[in-house]
Amino acid sequence: MVRAAAATAPASGRPAPRSPRARASPSEARTVPRRPELSERGLHGCRKDFPILERSFHGRPLTYLDSAATSQKPRSVIDAEREFYETLNANVHRGVYALSEEATEAYEKARARVAQFLHAKDPEEVVFLRGTTEAINLVAGALARGGLARGDRVVSTEMEHHSNIVPWHLLRQHPGVQLDFVGLTDDGRLRGEDLDRLLARGTKLFTFTHVSNVLGTVNPVRELTERAHDAGALVLLDAAQGAPHLPIDVQEMGVDLLAFSGHKVLGPTGIGVLWGKKEVLRKLPPYMGGGEMIREVDKADITYKDPPLKFEAGTPNVAGAVVLSRALDYLSRVGWDELRSFEHELLLDAEKRLKAALGEALTIYGPPVGRDREAVLSFSLKGIHPHDIATLLDAEGVAVRAGHHCAQLVMKRYGVPALTRASYYLYNDREDTTRLVEALTKVQQILGR
Ligand code: PLP
Repeated sequence: MVRAAAATAPASGRPAPRSPRARASPSEARTVPRRPELSERGLHGCRKDFPILERSFHGRPLTYLDSAATSQKPRSVIDAEREFYETLNANVHRGVYALSEEATEAYEKARARVAQFLHAKDPEEVVFLRGTTEAINLVAGALARGGLARGDRVVSTEMEHHSNIVPWHLLRQHPGVQLDFVGLTDDGRLRGEDLDRLLARGTKLFTFTHVSNVLGTVNPVRELTERAHDAGALVLLDAAQGAPHLPIDVQEMGVDLLAFSGHKVLGPTGIGVLWGKKEVLRKLPPYMGGGEMIREVDKADITYKDPPLKFEAGTPNVAGAVVLSRALDYLSRVGWDELRSFEHELLLDAEKRLKAALGEALTIYGPPVGRDREAVLSFSLKGIHPHDIATLLDAEGVAVRAGHHCAQLVMKRYGVPALTRASYYLYNDREDTTRLVEALTKVQQILGR
């Protein structure tokens, strides 16, 4: 099995050297812990908590391997949504009646719960938004109006989801910032020498993903942040794929801003978070205008509230925030070490069995399963288009994703138009991999050369 399509990849230079200054981030510091039991149906048998996994498609039980796109929801989260609308629903911050006060209290409690999840200093550092995409757009839009000028440099990476590329492209047009990308090694890691070179030229903002949604690479957040800070850059972390799998400690990581989405951490769609250091959020101008974010409006003048309310114009997603806090409760009870260990075992087992069944035709992308690799398995099968693979797998009840995964720079780097991606989470088990392997074997028999 070849990793990261070295044969077809454009020249990439030497692999990124490990920095001697590197210190482990909270997630990295954890060695892969004891081997969990894969015979259980999901971690600690949690599969039964997810009612949707009882569904069948095309006469086959659902094998859900697309959690990197969105996670399924446990019953406690589904119940919390109904409970909110049955008992708590009212607009927040503006009512003087008891129901509105209760709704406000629940909303602010959810903010405190998120702060705890992120190990933030203060709940006021937590801004509720629609998700990672909106959070990154907020930062880009605010910087365009209040921090970046023509010619300033923003550095992103070739590993990013389009959510962390397109908002910066918009800034290339206005106000005319310079946009550069850290490249990738053949085995799917960031090229450290690119970062050093780009930072040396003066960078205002360095933004990167915690975990790659295609390669599964876990980036060394603290080390990269220290390097960017030494060069005087602000750091924004896209934790959309990190937050579901790894403990987040913003103080330990040292980043200035961080974004994640509720729907990938067992929570509802339409809710997500921008976390920022207080002093950084205070300096950013508001993103949208509307109710609840102002102190005083006059015909000729306006003053804004302090963060986070300055960034939450209009009626927020109150139910979403409250239900997200229930999802974080569920996730936190699972235990990060056990989750990590369980996912590593699932991934090792899947790689081994896929290799055995599909042989040389299989190419898996990304670093080897280990401490810098998360539960994403992107692959190609020689001579078969990923869309054909995903369509035939669907007929077997196996839900995987095929395409460029909103990461066209990754596709271009490895010289492929698209990949098939199976992504695992706490409710998956060995049986899911058995169905995946059986279905892929069928695909190979039907379409393989
Ligand atoms: N960043 C990464 C790494 C992602 O994988 C995704 C979604 O898959 C996003 C950002 C965008 O998240 P959302 O669509 O929830 O805003």
